Amino acid sequence: MDFNLSSEDERFRAELRAWLEINAPKAQHRSELGMAAEEDEGDWQRRVGWYRKLHSGGWIGIHWPKEYGGRGASVLQNVIYAEELERAGAPVPFLGMGLSLLGPTLIHWGTEEQKQRYLPKILAGDEVWCQGYSEPGAGSDLASLQTRAVEDGDDFVVNGQKVWTSLAQHADWIFLLVRTDPDAPKHKGISYLLVDMHSPGVSVRPLVQMTGARGFNEVFFEDVRVPRKNLVGEKNQGWQVAITTLMFERGSGAGGNRDITGQIGELVKLAKATTRGGRPAWDDSSVRQRVAEFACEAQALKYTAYRQLTRRLRGLPPGPEGSMMKLCATELNLRVQLYAMELLGPYSQFEYRAPYAVDHGKWSYKMLAARGLTIAAGSNQIQHNIIGERVLGLPKG
Ligand SMILES: Cc1cc2nc3c(=O)[nH]c(=O)nc-3n(C[C@H](O)[C@H](O)[C@H](O)COP(=O)(O)OP(=O)(O)OC[C@H]3O[C@@H](n4cnc5c(N)ncnc54)[C@H](O)[C@@H]3O)c2cc1C
Repeated sequence: MDFNLSSEDERFRAELRAWLEINAPKAQHRSELGMAAEEDEGDWQRRVGWYRKLHSGGWIGIHWPKEYGGRGASVLQNVIYAEELERAGAPVPFLGMGLSLLGPTLIHWGTEEQKQRYLPKILAGDEVWCQGYSEPGAGSDLASLQTRAVEDGDDFVVNGQKVWTSLAQHADWIFLLVRTDPDAPKHKGISYLLVDMHSPGVSVRPLVQMTGARGFNEVFFEDVRVPRKNLVGEKNQGWQVAITTLMFERGSGAGGNRDITGQIGELVKLAKATTRGGRPAWDDSSVRQRVAEFACEAQALKYTAYRQLTRRLRGLPPGPEGSMMKLCATELNLRVQLYAMELLGPYSQFEYRAPYAVDHGKWSYKMLAARGLTIAAGSNQIQHNIIGERVLGLPKG
């Protein structure tokens, strides 16, 4: 990895940094929980406002090609973008799955009409998208999905149910995997549809998570008519399109696969602010030792991410580091959050935003949310399988 930036990349960094200095939300206007959580309408509105502000400054979808409204930013500039947002304490823009998942998939597979219709509204934050993959009987084994779509004139008619659909409560659209040929082998009878969430026959039922948030949902489809022009790719060939979306998902940091050095900094502050036996917990060398271990692991992950980046800069396909990163980052995040509970002692029992809770109770919230990240975007057991089979060459179980 070459850590020196070209002058063009340096200019990019300086321009973004200057813009963020003026425009990044001030601390009192940010959620303590970052983008991972949404507790009330105010959190959602803040998120929409920030996304649109970035868009007005030309800082949304920087990785998209210029012809579709992006900046055509390089892989390295995307890394700089993430670093500068982190440095400014600004949230990562997140308004559903349009920007990171559907947009890039449509750029690859969509018709020109689909690109013109959907991409500008994703960038502007005018339409929110959710992802309709998982079903009650199809999660890790996604290709077992049973939601049916049958052709009828110029439409498909969809019946079935999706589950764990993040942000469906806000979504205008859903990209949906449906079975269009029940007699074909399971990967071969799937199609990829774009469905208007406001269509008759679509209903959304919230699922309350153990954090108390209503981030995801069940979505039901009852005789929902979807125009044929909303098919992405060929009928019955949707699995290839679905895999493209999954590749973008693994690369997007979904499922908590992010640099968590900032989290360690927060843990240090917490250790300095909490007391043990009348002294700051930070004075205890065993506490400093544990935090140092977390910091070392976070650094190791950061450099693993740089190795992955080097592969991409050299034009090589993504390597198995993606699975390693997802597994190790989410496990480390969980251990960091559990350790915060230890530091807080009885105060860890206070819920988010409870009176007297330390840091507004964000630690107990993050601890509860950390479990979900070990499941989202492909569970960690599945990542173990991938590493075992593709990296270590172990026989398939
Ligand atoms: C926070 C969060 C957000 C999500 N958002 C969305 C969304 O927006 N849209 C969407 O479609 N889905 C979403 N999901 C669903 C997610 O993709 C699934 O939960 C995940 O793929 C696992 O599927 P499952 O829940 O059906 O569990 P299952 O696949 O039933 O797995 C149950 C358990 O068995 C283990 N297991 C399964 N197969 C194997 C195997 N072959 N080897 C070893 N162990 C195995 C799993 O690791 C897990 O521990 C979200 C999930 C979470 C937690």
